[in-house]
Amino acid sequence: MDLGLKGRRALVCAASKGLGKGCAMALAAEGVEVMITARGAEQLEATAAEIRAATGATVHTLAGDVTTKHGRDAILAAWPETDILINNAGGPPTGDFRDWDEEAWHKAVEANMITPIMLMKAYVDGMIARGFGRVVNITSGAVKAPIAVLGLSNGARTGLTGFVAGLARQVAPHGVTINNLLPGQFETDRLAGTMAAEAKRSGKTLDEARAGALATIPARRFGRAEEFGKTCAFLCSDAAGFIVGQNVLIDGGKFPGTM
Ligand code: NAP
Repeated sequence: MDLGLKGRRALVCAASKGLGKGCAMALAAEGVEVMITARGAEQLEATAAEIRAATGATVHTLAGDVTTKHGRDAILAAWPETDILINNAGGPPTGDFRDWDEEAWHKAVEANMITPIMLMKAYVDGMIARGFGRVVNITSGAVKAPIAVLGLSNGARTGLTGFVAGLARQVAPHGVTINNLLPGQFETDRLAGTMAAEAKRSGKTLDEARAGALATIPARRFGRAEEFGKTCAFLCSDAAGFIVGQNVLIDGGKFPGTM
């Protein structure tokens, strides 16, 4: 299936590892010129080299913190227009709601709500003017079914989801789609961190914590960044132009609802 993405240009935030990297790789494989960002320059350059070698695509890099205004300004200066925007950043820490002070909440809201909103604000008018745009926000299955220890994520990402529901309908008449991609549990560094935290919290071994998590996933495995990336590339395609303002859950069947 030709996704019609050849020659497009994409900004993939927080993409030196994990789900962001999966998205960048899948887009590059479709002939998209990509700009990838992350804070750590060394891993970022290694990932860019890996994507170039695997796909032959042009891959640009920019090291910086996307969750700060300074970091976002640097991205906008280096990549002023984009056809495709993949919003992503690290997730907030796990914990108990009693431990999260105002600063923790401000950080979570800045990273997982304000940052993607500011980047959409910066890029969608250019997309509208050119009559084509695709935005995919990497959020979390926690938006559909809250995860108690991830209250900061439940709250901040649901705020983003509400905003996107409105904006997606405003930009849709101009060939611009905005959708959210909701990961369940994917085998990444982030999962290793949340599993270690869960083992500590529950007094289980890491293997027991992982087995407990796997038992709740009908597919009986964690997701792979590559399959997440391919779903993202599809949402960016011409074929997905009628998919507007959706929350696409990719979780191996973990969410038990009929819809
Ligand atoms: P990951 O494997 O830890 O990768 C995170 C990537 O983001 C790295 O490239 C990291 O590089 C970059 N990054 C982190 N903070 C950044 C910042 N402030 N500015 C720029 N880049 C930053 O994580 P992941 O599993 O791919 O998760 C991606 C997102 O999906 C997170 O928000 C996570 O909470 C969410 N999510 C993941 C899962 C899962 O099971 N994996 C489930 C639900 C939701 P640097 O550290 O060098 O910046």
